[in-house]
Amino acid sequence: MARKSKKSEIIFIIVIVILLTALGLGIFSYFYFDKKIEEKEKNNKKIITETQSKEEILKSKEEEMIILQNELDEYNNLDKKIEDLKKEYYSSIKDLEDAIISGKSNKKIAYLTFDDGPYYNTYKVLDILDKYNVKATFFTTSINGENCYDKKSEKCYPLYKEYIKRGHTIANHTYTHGIWSGLYKSVDSFINAVSKQEEHVKNMTGGYITRIVRFPGGSSTAGKLKNSIIEALKKKGYGWVDWNAQDGDGGDLSTKEQAWSNLKSSINENIEVILFHDYHPITTEILPEVIEYLQKNGYILLPLFYESNMINK
Ligand SMILES: [Zn+2]
Repeated sequence: MARKSKKSEIIFIIVIVILLTALGLGIFSYFYFDKKIEEKEKNNKKIITETQSKEEILKSKEEEMIILQNELDEYNNLDKKIEDLKKEYYSSIKDLEDAIISGKSNKKIAYLTFDDGPYYNTYKVLDILDKYNVKATFFTTSINGENCYDKKSEKCYPLYKEYIKRGHTIANHTYTHGIWSGLYKSVDSFINAVSKQEEHVKNMTGGYITRIVRFPGGSSTAGKLKNSIIEALKKKGYGWVDWNAQDGDGGDLSTKEQAWSNLKSSINENIEVILFHDYHPITTEILPEVIEYLQKNGYILLPLFYESNMINK
């Protein structure tokens, strides 16, 4: 009897052990697999979040690209914008000229013009103009070649870009300036020298077009050919201008007093086109005072433009 109960005791213990093991395994696997599922879910969530943030980055990159493209388009349109602004600016100067000419405005305009450059001394002239924030007009010629006439060791062609950079007008004073060497031999010789200088300005500046011409020596130097040359210029779309005031630096000028006297006696209009030469030391010396004098006397100093009433066409 005691043996039997021992046996059932052992069976009972074995059953308990089996039950406990099964329970243990059950609990273990419950936690283990649950954790695995949880981890997997977490991982899935992570992947979803990562994908979303990658999509967001891509989206913001796309937006950046659009902004950059717009900026690039804007930049490419800059030339046109500057051209439009220039047109607007010149059109308001033209309106002012009209008002002055018709007596509706008592304002005055002076166009400072410098002939025969570029010279090395032109840098000095440009610096003075910059100091007063004055824009002028440079009637250029190629008679002196690439090296500066007044400083052979320096190149003067870079000045063409300098004129533009500093906001001045480049005008055409013919390629050869050859008053005594055939410029006025025929209409063709004159027009050729104008076209050649126009081409030169274009090359030196990367495309600047000037349609304003000044006859070397003034239009009267063309003599009998003057009217035919004017007709030919007109046909080619050029305008031309002489001057109505000067300090006399194109001739015999040896003192500042003489320059002032020439200048003051020639200034008597409400719109003045003043002739200077950018090589002349006296002109360079008195230029700051000339600017101050003109401004004190009510003149607005401006660069010439094709549409101006002062340009014959
Ligand atoms: Zn000249």
